[in-house]
Amino acid sequence: MSSATLKIAALAGDGIGPEVMREALKVLRAVGQKYSLNLHITEAPVGWAGIDAAGKALPDATLEVCRQSDAILFGSVGLPDRDPTIPKDQRPERAALLRLRKEFSLFANLRPVQLPKALAHACPLRPERQGDGLDLLVVRELTGGMYFGQPKKTEEVIEAREGHEGGPRRFLRAIDTMVYTEPEIERIAHVSFQAAQLRRKKVTSIDKANVLENGILWREVVTRVAKAYPEVTVEHMFVDNAAMQLMLKPTQFDVVLCENMFGDILSDEAAALAGSLGMLPSASLGNTSGEKTFGLYEPAGGTAPDIAGKNLANPIAQILSAALMLRYSFKQEAAARAIEAGVSAAIAQGLRTGDIYNPADAAAKKVGTTEMGDAIAGAVAA
Ligand code: NAD
Repeated sequence: MSSATLKIAALAGDGIGPEVMREALKVLRAVGQKYSLNLHITEAPVGWAGIDAAGKALPDATLEVCRQSDAILFGSVGLPDRDPTIPKDQRPERAALLRLRKEFSLFANLRPVQLPKALAHACPLRPERQGDGLDLLVVRELTGGMYFGQPKKTEEVIEAREGHEGGPRRFLRAIDTMVYTEPEIERIAHVSFQAAQLRRKKVTSIDKANVLENGILWREVVTRVAKAYPEVTVEHMFVDNAAMQLMLKPTQFDVVLCENMFGDILSDEAAALAGSLGMLPSASLGNTSGEKTFGLYEPAGGTAPDIAGKNLANPIAQILSAALMLRYSFKQEAAARAIEAGVSAAIAQGLRTGDIYNPADAAAKKVGTTEMGDAIAGAVAA
C-alpha cells in the first residue's frame, strides 16, 4: 500500500507501440487499483507520432512530460518505410531514444530473459538444457566502455617503405578505446547486486581479465563491491566462456553483469533463448534520488511494422516492462510480482499470441493483443 504519487510518462510511439501500450496501461491500472497505487500517467507522442504531431521525433512537450515524471514507459519508435529523405540524426531511433538515454543518464540496462516451461517449443535449445524453464537477468553497463571511449577515429597512416619503388604505403587505421573508471564500475555493480537480492542471489560478472586492463580493474572493483552484499554469491567468468555457457547450461545463471559491449552481445544471445521478442521487457536505469530511481522501460523488440494494426502483437514484453518499472523505479515489488504472476496465469491458461503459438500444443488457444491484455489484467485483479 502506498500513497506516494507514481508519475509515469507513457510514450507509445509507432507501429505496434500504441497497441501494446494500451494493454500495458490496462494491466497497470488493474494492479494500481489492487495495491492502492496513486498512479499519475501522462501519455505523449514520440517517434513518427511525434513528427506528425509536433514536427520532431521527441517533441519539446513530450520531453517536458518525461522531466516531470519519475519513469518512462516506452513503446517502440521507427518505421523503416517512412520518408527515407529525413536525415539520420532526425530519425526517431536516434532523435528520440538515444536522446532520452542521454538526457536522463541511463547507465544501467537490465534485460530479463524468462522462458516458462509451457513455452519450451519456442526456445532453440533442446528441452533437457532448459531445466525447469529459464530465468536470468543481464545487467549491462550502457554509457561507458568501447562505444564511448576516446580516441575514436579513422585516420590515414603513411608508412615509409625504404627502397620500395612505389614510395610510401598509405592505408586507413581505425581506433576505438575501451575506458572504464572505478566509479562507473562500482555503480553498475551495485545495480547488479541489488537486482540479485530480489532474485536467486547470484551474480556472474563477465570480463576478459586474462587479456584486458579493463578486465582486471572490472574484476577488482566487482570483488570489492560484492563485500557489501554478503548474502549474494559472486563468480567471475571470461566473456568467451560465458557465450558458450549460455548455450550449454543457461540454468546456471541468475544475474549476469557485463560491461557495455560484452553486454550488447550476450544480452542478444540470451534473448534468443526466450524464442520471441514479444516476451522480452527491458529497463534502463539512471540515478536514484530518495526512494525513486529514474528509468525508461521498453520492450526489447521494435515497432514490428509487419503485424502493426492487426491485433496480432504480443503485449507481454510491454506489460512486463511495466512490472520492471514498478520494481526498479518505484520499489513496488508486490505489485511487480502480481503483474508477472498475471502473465504466468495467462500462459498457464494456454493463451498464445501468434509469435508463441505452437499448433502441436492441444491446450494452446490463439488470441489477439487485446484478449491477451484482458486476460492478464483480469488475473491481476482477481
Ligand atoms: P522488430 O523487433 O520490430 O521486428 C522483428 C520481428 O519480430 C518481426 O517479425 C516482428 O513481427 C516480430 N515482433 C517484434 N515484436 C513483437 C511482438 N511484440 N509480438 C509479436 N511479434 C513481434 O524489428 P525490425 O523489423 O528490425 O524493426 C522495425 C522498426 O523498429 C525499425 O524502424 C527499427 O529501427 C525499429 N526498432 C525500434 C526499437 C525501439 O524503439 N527501441 C528497437 C528495435 C527496432
